[in-house]
Amino acid sequence: MGKRKDDRGGAKASIPVYGLALAVVPTHNPPVPDFSRVKAVYFDLDDTLCGYWDAAKGGLRAAFELHPVPGRSLEESLAAWAREFRRFAHELKTSHWYEIYLTQGGVTRTQLMNETLQSLGIEDPELAWRLGDVYGRERDARLRLFPEARDVLEALFGRYPLGLITNGPADVQRQEIETLGIGDFFEHVFIEGEMGLGKPHTSVMRRAELAVGLEPAEILFVGNSYAHDIVPASEAGWRTTWVRRPSDVPPSSSTGKPEERPPDGPVPDLEVTTLLDVLQPLGVATGGLAHQP
Ligand SMILES: [Mg+2]
Repeated sequence: MGKRKDDRGGAKASIPVYGLALAVVPTHNPPVPDFSRVKAVYFDLDDTLCGYWDAAKGGLRAAFELHPVPGRSLEESLAAWAREFRRFAHELKTSHWYEIYLTQGGVTRTQLMNETLQSLGIEDPELAWRLGDVYGRERDARLRLFPEARDVLEALFGRYPLGLITNGPADVQRQEIETLGIGDFFEHVFIEGEMGLGKPHTSVMRRAELAVGLEPAEILFVGNSYAHDIVPASEAGWRTTWVRRPSDVPPSSSTGKPEERPPDGPVPDLEVTTLLDVLQPLGVATGGLAHQP
C-alpha cells in the first residue's frame, strides 16, 4: 500500500498521485479536521443543541389557534407575524426596544404581536398580550434537545471545559437552559441579554477566551448560524464546527431553506448534521453512545 502522507487508506492508496487519478478521491468522506490543539469547547444553544425554530413554529400555531385573529385564517395570521418579525428583528438592535429585549423577552414579544395585529387592521392590545403570552409559554413547552445532544455533552463533560454562548433575552435564555436541564454541563455561560451585546461581536469571543484562559486556536465553537456563530468564531481565530440541520428554518423565513455560506465567507473547519460528528475529531470514542445513527 502506498504511504503518501495524505493517503486516506483502502484501495485508493495505490493510485498514482497525478493527473486524473486525483479525481477519484471520494468527496463524500471529507478528512477529519485536526482538533488536537483544542482544549475547550463552546456551544451555541438554539438550533445547535435544541430545536428552537420547531418549538417557535409550534408555539405560534398554538397561540393563534387559541386566540384567533378576528376575520383572519391561521395561515394569514402566521404570514402576518412572519412579515412583521422580519421587519422588527431588523430594527430591534438599533432601536429603544433593544434595552428592554435584553432583560425580558415578553415585552418585545407582545409588541411584535401588537404590530402583527395592526398590520391586519386590528387595534387590540389585550389580544396582543394574550397571543404573546401563549406563544412564549407554548414555545418553551415544546423546546427539546436534539436526540444526540445530551449524549454528546455527557461524552465531552470532564474531558473538556464546556461553555455556552447564546443570543437572546436574559430571562428567555435562562429559562431555556432550565427547561432543557443542561446547565450543569457548562462552566461558562455567556448570554447576550446579560452581557448587553451578543454575537457576532468578536468581543464576546474575547470574553469567552479569558474565561477559559486559552489561546484562540485552542477553542472550538460549535454553532448552527453561519453569520452569528461561524463568522465571529473564525474571525477570533477559533476552530469551528457548523451544524447544519434541515429543521434550521425560522418561521419568518422567506426561502424555507437553511442558511447557506456566502462564497467569500470563511470556511468552517467541519460541517456536520449531527453533533455526534464532533466527537471523533475531539478524540472521543462514539462506541457506547445510545444515539449513534
Ligand atoms: Mg443558534
